Amino acid sequence: MRSEAVKEFAFNEGADLIGIASADRLDNAPLGHKPRDILPKARCVIVLAMRYLNGSIEAAKIGSTIYPYQASCHIWLNHQLTILSYKVARFLERRGFLATPIPANWPRYWDEPKGIIADLSHKHAAVAAGLGEFGWSGLVLTPQFGPRQRFISIVTNAPIEPDPVYNGKICKRCFKCVEVCPVKAISKTERISIKIEQRRFEYAVLDKMRCKWCNDGGLIKAAWGMKTIPLPKKIDFESYWKALEQRDPYQKNHSTAWGSTTPFCGRCLMHCPAGEKV
Ligand code: SF4
Ligand code: SF4
Repeated sequence: MRSEAVKEFAFNEGADLIGIASADRLDNAPLGHKPRDILPKARCVIVLAMRYLNGSIEAAKIGSTIYPYQASCHIWLNHQLTILSYKVARFLERRGFLATPIPANWPRYWDEPKGIIADLSHKHAAVAAGLGEFGWSGLVLTPQFGPRQRFISIVTNAPIEPDPVYNGKICKRCFKCVEVCPVKAISKTERISIKIEQRRFEYAVLDKMRCKWCNDGGLIKAAWGMKTIPLPKKIDFESYWKALEQRDPYQKNHSTAWGSTTPFCGRCLMHCPAGEKV
């Protein structure tokens, strides 16, 4: 199948970026999280992105309000991506192929020793699809938007020509992402190194539970939480659930109304110079 056909359809439906990875480029993912664990005859992964609104990011960055960022860059954008990926998957199935979208923001599992992990990493899929490179923060940086986009992936058995792996350099290793993190979740020295085709990519080790404390839980006042709950030495799910119970009562009820994936932080993304083009 020609990649132009699916790309043209996705762009017309609202995608800002689209890239295609062969399924084998993600064969090093943990067991259970490879494209062929999801569909045994998967041939490729189509990755779609929609950009964040710079205005919503700037408002959060200067401290005026976090709500437009929470809504337009996450909650509403996840809905848009869900609809977009469903349409692209239907486009493929109408042509006789199997296609399944992997949701943009869930489910995420807590799985020892792997930690918090999704069905399929959209970030790794995006890099494998040639859309950009990993920044030190672990966010994917694209030449068009830096870290300011959200991804969704479709696993399919359609034989579509993959895009070349991105060979540019975007991350300047300025470590701004490390500096601005209120909970020191991003290591400045420890790194993860992966190879896709001929290119090696490196990014920082992220303490996902520290990030979760701040970004998902809103448990840090410096990042829009209403009350700081001190971080324990080791954060496990038990201490995390307990901390959620200790939140300010207004925030507790309000967060529930917004949904559990409302982000409170995003500083590593907002302050990354690769996205500051406005
Ligand atoms: S803030 Fe600097 S080091 Fe971090 S991802 Fe962006 S460019 Fe790279
Ligand atoms: S979202 Fe916030 S808490 Fe999480 S890594 Fe980025 S800066 Fe740190």
